[in-house]
Amino acid sequence: MTQISPIIFWFRQDLRLQDHPFFCQSHDRPIVALFILETDNQTRGHGSASRWWLHHSLQTLDQTLGGRLILRAGPALDVLQQVIEETGAQEVHWSRLYDPRSIERDKKIMATLKKQGQTVCSHNSTLLFEPWTIKTLKGEHFKVFTPFWKNCLKQPITPPNNAIGKNSFYALSSEILTHWKLTPNKPNWAKDWGDRWQPGEAGAKKRCENFIQNHLKGYAENRDFPALNAATSQLSAALHWGEASVQTIWFDIVEALEKGICSHLDAERFQAELGWREFSHHLLYHVPHLVDQPMDTRFHAMQWEKNPSDFKQWSRGMTGYPIVDAGMRQLWQTGWMHNRVRMIVASFLVKDLLLPWQEGEQWFWDTLVDADAANNAASWQWVAGCGADASPWFRIFNPVLQGEKFDPEGDYVRAFVPELTKLPQKWIHKPWLAPPEVLQHSGIVLGRDYPAPMISHDFARKRALSALSDATHATET
Ligand code: FAD
Repeated sequence: MTQISPIIFWFRQDLRLQDHPFFCQSHDRPIVALFILETDNQTRGHGSASRWWLHHSLQTLDQTLGGRLILRAGPALDVLQQVIEETGAQEVHWSRLYDPRSIERDKKIMATLKKQGQTVCSHNSTLLFEPWTIKTLKGEHFKVFTPFWKNCLKQPITPPNNAIGKNSFYALSSEILTHWKLTPNKPNWAKDWGDRWQPGEAGAKKRCENFIQNHLKGYAENRDFPALNAATSQLSAALHWGEASVQTIWFDIVEALEKGICSHLDAERFQAELGWREFSHHLLYHVPHLVDQPMDTRFHAMQWEKNPSDFKQWSRGMTGYPIVDAGMRQLWQTGWMHNRVRMIVASFLVKDLLLPWQEGEQWFWDTLVDADAANNAASWQWVAGCGADASPWFRIFNPVLQGEKFDPEGDYVRAFVPELTKLPQKWIHKPWLAPPEVLQHSGIVLGRDYPAPMISHDFARKRALSALSDATHATET
């Protein structure tokens, strides 16, 4: 008996079945549910924290598919062709990605497979507004967030389709997930992450429901205070991997507003954050060099420092500035960092230490569970002052004032910098200014138990302003 030829669905950053344009339809042929671990350097490899997340997300997706998720490693085109040969499939589907390397790869694969007689379809499972659909009056892409978002809000948003098609899944030999060694082993720095994160569609749904029920009210005000650790949704990894549909989240917020669960301000503020995600993807699509080159060309002339030892102190959370160190340690311990603190640590790296933003972007890429090509690069460029609609270069965060404003009790610092637990609130963000008897009483010898500041912020600020002035001058002459 001949088997009916299946349809291949190639999963990438859309690891869910609900509100998924392909899976909400019923297909009359079995589906080969395929995930490819790419090994040919055509795309940027996943960072270590993302690999941990991916492992667990694939595990749950496989359970949802009744053990029928097919895992294959290799160059994507070779794997697809191999699977086509093994199954006789004549149709291949995937969800679109917007970073330059993925676009280039997908174009090549689509052209090759079409030439070989395959039907190839791509879908939008990721964004509210695909980058080419939002244009200025002149037909160009947007470079500033506010007009971009105003324009977006005039467009219709497709409501979620929560039907799940009646589909069967094709059995085919699969590689073994644990053989891919996506999770760390020696040392297992992620050993506690399972208590904190639940990768996969069900976990994303639970997190979203919990956020809306318990924390959306007050979001606009609370979102800037990192010690309130559930004040933001922490849905970023689920959104990156497509375990949650952004349309579903959007309409859940609309419903919460209608039910009076939150204020207009809370809903609008949260939706605007989803808007920043859309804007970052819009930028990356239209300005592909965003990933590693400054958008503001003046920054090509910037004289960055080369200082691996300073970078190491920053990445280890040993700068001597408590809010910076708390952020970097939160990142290391949990794979996530609060948005306000991301801005503070990024500003410290780029402006106080004068190290290139690309080094920070790479560290985040490796250590964040939500590492995302668009959001990461656009945000780093925003903080550095060289991106679209960026925070101006001369706006240099003072890590002490930022700490005092957004972590007034010092609870966030105490949670991640245990050396400072006993330090009174007054000195928690500036231990080097504490009187010797206070330090002694708190059990701290600076330089032994906790570092003295690695650089004077006042000196660093002046140095940064002068470096920008030189870079701008170099471009003008
Ligand atoms: P919430 O406040 O609950 O926001 C909801 C969702 O909106 C987020 O899950 C995220 O998808 C999106 N969002 C929120 N803020 C932003 C933003 N500024 N830009 C783009 N999207 C946003 N976000 C990533 O998803 N991946 C990254 O690699 C990343 N790198 C960053 C690097 C730096 C230097 C900075 C300053 C920010 C970065 N962000 C990144 C943006 C932001 O910090 C995170 O999206 C947010 O902290 C995630 O937490 P949350 O899900 O609780 O956010």
